[in-house]
Amino acid sequence: MTQQLMTLAELHADAVSAWFGSHKVLDQVSLVMPAGRVTALIGPSGCGKSTFLRILNRMHELVPGASLAGEVRLDGNDIYEPQRRVIDARRQIGMVFQKPNPFPAMSVYDNVVAGLKLTGVRVTRRERDDLVEECLTKAGLWREVRDRLRDPGGALSGGQQQRLCIGRALAVRPRVLLMDEPCSALDPTSTRRIEETIAELVTEVTIVIVTHNMQQAARVSDECAFFLAEHGSPGAIVEHGPTGSMFDSPQDQRTSDYVHGRF
Ligand code: ADP
Ligand code: MG
Repeated sequence: MTQQLMTLAELHADAVSAWFGSHKVLDQVSLVMPAGRVTALIGPSGCGKSTFLRILNRMHELVPGASLAGEVRLDGNDIYEPQRRVIDARRQIGMVFQKPNPFPAMSVYDNVVAGLKLTGVRVTRRERDDLVEECLTKAGLWREVRDRLRDPGGALSGGQQQRLCIGRALAVRPRVLLMDEPCSALDPTSTRRIEETIAELVTEVTIVIVTHNMQQAARVSDECAFFLAEHGSPGAIVEHGPTGSMFDSPQDQRTSDYVHGRF
């Protein structure tokens, strides 16, 4: 159970295509999201970034009529193998959404431990207390809420709610954390707090973040992938690589235009 014993995990998407009914929205997306790194997914609205993220932890299959092709491997193991349980993929690969979504009537404490029961992780009362402190500390929230653990999650500010959601995601010890525009509903101060949290978390969990904010992508990510859906065609990766090169010397004119705000 201790995080220190776990090695960092690499996530690998191989020729992933996706459909909603007969509408193809992703075409042959392949991407390595290296262990212990932050990978940013960038690109205009509607190019399939959120869909791709949901495929990475088997949430896409929750959408009625949705289908996909290709493979997603966590440290070499296909998360879509028929004998694998969906719940295991979702436990190992956590998700934080754009709009903070703690259980609003549930206490801060219960929000953090909520995922344990869902994923069948058993812990003692004492372990639970320690886990809540640990996860809220990692999420950068402990000092602000240590005296408010019984308050409802919905009573926190927006930025605090988002950090609570990060703490909740961490409680099941994920190996990868997916974040879909986690700061776009937040003010600049809360955004900075989340960016600091990301920088600290990446030493123990692989992170994939969707962001519309190019300065944020430049600040937080090691690797960057630029998605585009041109002229009604499905989304695909135009270019990916180390964030520095993507910003300073992109190979494709469309990448250069996008990262410099000329889209
Ligand atoms: P992004 O996150 O890059 O803005 P999305 O993954 O949300 O892109 O959307 C990609 C495409 O898939 C869009 O054309 C969108 O309309 C479509 N889409 C997304 N979610 C659904 C859904 N639940 N049902 C049908 N179409 C969807
Ligand atoms: Mg999206």
